[in-house]
Amino acid sequence: MNNRNKTIYITTPIYYVNDKPHIGHAYTTIVADVLARYYRNKLGDDNVYFLTGTDEHGAKIAESAAKVGIDPQKFTDQISDEFKEAWQNLEISNDQFIRTTSEKHIKIVTDILNKLKEAKTPLGNDVLYESEYEGLYCVGCEKFLNPSDLVDEKCPDHNQKPKLVKEKNWFFRLNDFLPLIKEKITKDELLIYPSTRKNEVLGLIDKQDLPDFSISRSIKSVPWGIDLPWDKNQKSYVWVDALSNYITALDYPQGDLFQKFWPANIQLLALDILKFHTLYWPAILLALGMELPKQLAIHGFFTINGQKMSKTIGNVIHPNEVVEKYGAEVSKYLILSQFSFGSESDIKVEDFPIKYNADLVNGLGNLINRTTKMVEDYLDGEIDKSGLEIIEDVVSKINQDIEKINFKEALVKIWKLIQESNFLIDQEKPWELSKSNNKDDQEKLKSVLGFCIKNLYNVAYSLNFLMPQKSQEILDIIQADKIKKPAKPLFPRL
Ligand SMILES: [Zn+2]
Repeated sequence: MNNRNKTIYITTPIYYVNDKPHIGHAYTTIVADVLARYYRNKLGDDNVYFLTGTDEHGAKIAESAAKVGIDPQKFTDQISDEFKEAWQNLEISNDQFIRTTSEKHIKIVTDILNKLKEAKTPLGNDVLYESEYEGLYCVGCEKFLNPSDLVDEKCPDHNQKPKLVKEKNWFFRLNDFLPLIKEKITKDELLIYPSTRKNEVLGLIDKQDLPDFSISRSIKSVPWGIDLPWDKNQKSYVWVDALSNYITALDYPQGDLFQKFWPANIQLLALDILKFHTLYWPAILLALGMELPKQLAIHGFFTINGQKMSKTIGNVIHPNEVVEKYGAEVSKYLILSQFSFGSESDIKVEDFPIKYNADLVNGLGNLINRTTKMVEDYLDGEIDKSGLEIIEDVVSKINQDIEKINFKEALVKIWKLIQESNFLIDQEKPWELSKSNNKDDQEKLKSVLGFCIKNLYNVAYSLNFLMPQKSQEILDIIQADKIKKPAKPLFPRL
């Protein structure tokens, strides 16, 4: 949490509109969504701000738009809408959707560029300087590649030869900022999570061969972008434009949102943009005299059923397909319960139906059905409501997991409550206890079912961050004056 310990600002990267939304984008966005929901419950709706959006400039967009014969703005409008729609379908609770082609963003980035032009590094040098750039540029990657990146002289990701590009660019003097960034990362003032990624970034700094990065391109190589305010032949290159979204969205430097929510608490990203977020972004912020984000949380690359996700293989999963089949809340469960944040990220889509049946239909769904049915049949729907309380120890451990972005671990703890209850029912056989006139058996019946209802209460309470609607449905069922088996199962068999 930020300085005042009362507000939380969570961001996803802005997604590049050259690609349609896929399950990798969805993963990062779902993680941000469940964190935002968790903190809204904890701190109140007004004290949490959740940002996502789309990155819409660059040569690749201009090329893609030209290919389909439409204006780049129209092209970005269309794809950006697809992202918005995918997030609506997934019931993502973002507070804002920032677009880098919006008037507001362009205006503030222009201000930022002017500020950087005037700024000095910690060593007293100009932050920006003009120099000649020559490199092998892959239009597909939209970046200069190192000769060592190439396979048969081609970009391995795009199977095409990069162009040799030579031009005057404006550069950002990254190296002057690295000692300070290193210090902040080492002390966890800028927390890089998980720690393997922290070590990776410190390793990059220690190698001492990080080149300064260019912040502009000639109009010829990047025709679609924000004008460099002092040089009409140059456009702003991706870094300052895209990374600034996290503050332009808050109306930097004067906006109320900015005053309230900066510095960001959790900035989520995928491994492929590690360097830009852990080095370039802090350097830009330091040059602007700003506080750094508290935490950068990095997840790995995705594979689908063990294979690299690729259009050629045809295994790209679109979030809408998953939502259509399972609904938004269950989709989030299926995706987040598969692997721990930051570890090997293989989405086993093949396992979704198995997991759905095992965990939701036969696990949680069955526990709800059998417990409520027995309370209805054997106890006339009545159970001691004073038993409906939080199991402090368990819930606080679940909450700790959520705050550490260990959702898989949190879900394991929640499902343990479910297993425990199902096990107790199988062992104590309430249907037999109910037939007994023995007073002890009657007490035992009440205590077994009371235990299951209490566990369900804790399950519903803890699942709120992930499945707010299902969670409320469960609470409504068990908090009713008379408990009844739900008319329809909460998790129908497919
Ligand atoms: Zn490429």
